[in-house]
Amino acid sequence: MASGNKKIVIIGAGPCGLGAAWRLHELGLENYEVFEQNDYAGGLSASFSDEKGFIWDIGGHIQFSHYDYFDRLMEAVIPDNGWVSHERESWIWMRSRFIPYPLQYNIGKLPQQEMLECLAGLLNCRNEGAPRINFLDWILHTFGEGIARHFLIPYNKKVWAYPPEELSAKWTGERIAVPDVKRIIKNIISGTDDCSWGPNNAFKFPLHGGTGAIWCALADRLPKEKIHLCSELAVVDSGRKLLKFKNGREENYDYLISTMPIDQLVHIINGIEYNQSDSFVYSSTNTIGVGLKGEPPEKLRTKCWMYFPEDDNPFYRVTVFSNYSPNNVPHGQYWSLMGEVSESPGKPVDQTQLIDEALQGFYNTQLIEKNAPIVSIWSYRAEYAYPTPFLGRDELIDRYLTTLQKKNIYSRGRFGAWKYECSNMDHVVMQGVEAVDHILFGIPELTLNYPSFINSHRVR
Ligand SMILES: Cc1cc2nc3c(=O)[nH]c(=O)nc-3n(C[C@H](O)[C@H](O)[C@H](O)COP(=O)(O)OP(=O)(O)OC[C@H]3O[C@@H](n4cnc5c(N)ncnc54)[C@H](O)[C@@H]3O)c2cc1C
Repeated sequence: MASGNKKIVIIGAGPCGLGAAWRLHELGLENYEVFEQNDYAGGLSASFSDEKGFIWDIGGHIQFSHYDYFDRLMEAVIPDNGWVSHERESWIWMRSRFIPYPLQYNIGKLPQQEMLECLAGLLNCRNEGAPRINFLDWILHTFGEGIARHFLIPYNKKVWAYPPEELSAKWTGERIAVPDVKRIIKNIISGTDDCSWGPNNAFKFPLHGGTGAIWCALADRLPKEKIHLCSELAVVDSGRKLLKFKNGREENYDYLISTMPIDQLVHIINGIEYNQSDSFVYSSTNTIGVGLKGEPPEKLRTKCWMYFPEDDNPFYRVTVFSNYSPNNVPHGQYWSLMGEVSESPGKPVDQTQLIDEALQGFYNTQLIEKNAPIVSIWSYRAEYAYPTPFLGRDELIDRYLTTLQKKNIYSRGRFGAWKYECSNMDHVVMQGVEAVDHILFGIPELTLNYPSFINSHRVR
């Protein structure tokens, strides 16, 4: 077990790195430093303001949590009146209509023939004990052929950018509502919209500055001299416990908490055996923001986000971002939409066509009228966006995490630990906090090692 005077260096000032730094600061320890390659904090959870004054996130971020610790941290960084509270209103746009999410509870809203196919599939699929080899198997065995064909397969191809048979089903626990056939039949008969499922059915959003405001505020609460921006880690000499940065700086460490993608980390470490054939699968996301003059159409006025399984548009999800906070748009009457388009080697995106295709998608899905007054278009490509739960992921990642940890290197966070099921903001902040508690006190790391427990309980 390490004592408090050992030096901990943190790579990355995203939520995970800042969570680790916050924990050290909270414990009154000073022997730590944070290095971030960008000139801002927040990582994938940063926000940006465009020339016209619209605020954008990297895809729709909402703040909800499984942890008391995380909630207290949020209260500490942004006061109560600095948040907007929301009841989730999420929808699926398919068959030229909005259907409440999750589809499996609302199949009564589909055209009749499709509803019957979904219901028949559900009634026939209770195949307990059947092998669930991959995500496609899991979908078919859990939901049956109808829901799979009409929604889950096309939608999941769009969001993951990989065919579902190439993904494992381990992450599905809290993320996908499993069907309760009695409830579904009741909903069909009563015509009820059943939308309350899920851990994020209520969420908060910063009143000012987008999601990134949370992380800027947290960085501001830490001693200024501890956070070094524009400092890209280039080499880790794990034998000498020495870091070399692109800007020429060198830094020793006793413990390293790295939140950079683990596949990049293992490439720059001397003294770790890296197998060239190891393949860490991930996808990228393109966010396209459209700022408009006027008010959102009536049908979008209370919606949070919408899912898009069909192929008359490139999105897997669109957020009505102006609904999250009035300050996400300039003063006056404006509104905004933010579409997300996934990308992978098997699903390439032509960047020269992306904006045109996105606009056409907004028109085809009737989110924007052809003559609507667009005043701003913003786009952002995140190379590392979704840590794909590929087949064999756990064996590969766990092998590297174990090897690294033997050298006092804790690779944590969304792409540091590569576990989609515990890679939201609350999870990764806690991965940072728990890594520190493990280094200092030997306390087991719950989030990394027991994600299904974390996702089904409220924790300290
Ligand atoms: C489209 C999308 C939507 C999302 N929606 C939600 C949501 O609704 N709710 C939610 O809770 N979460 C959401 N997330 C997840 C959220 O973005 C992540 O949980 C969070 O940002 C991960 O934090 P992190 O610190 O682990 O990694 P990151 O945010 O990736 O931060 C890592 C940091 O390390 C830095 N870095 C990398 N390499 C180096 C280097 N060599 N040297 C120095 N610094 C380096 C990076 O610049 C970055 O700042 C979403 C993510 C995406 C992509």
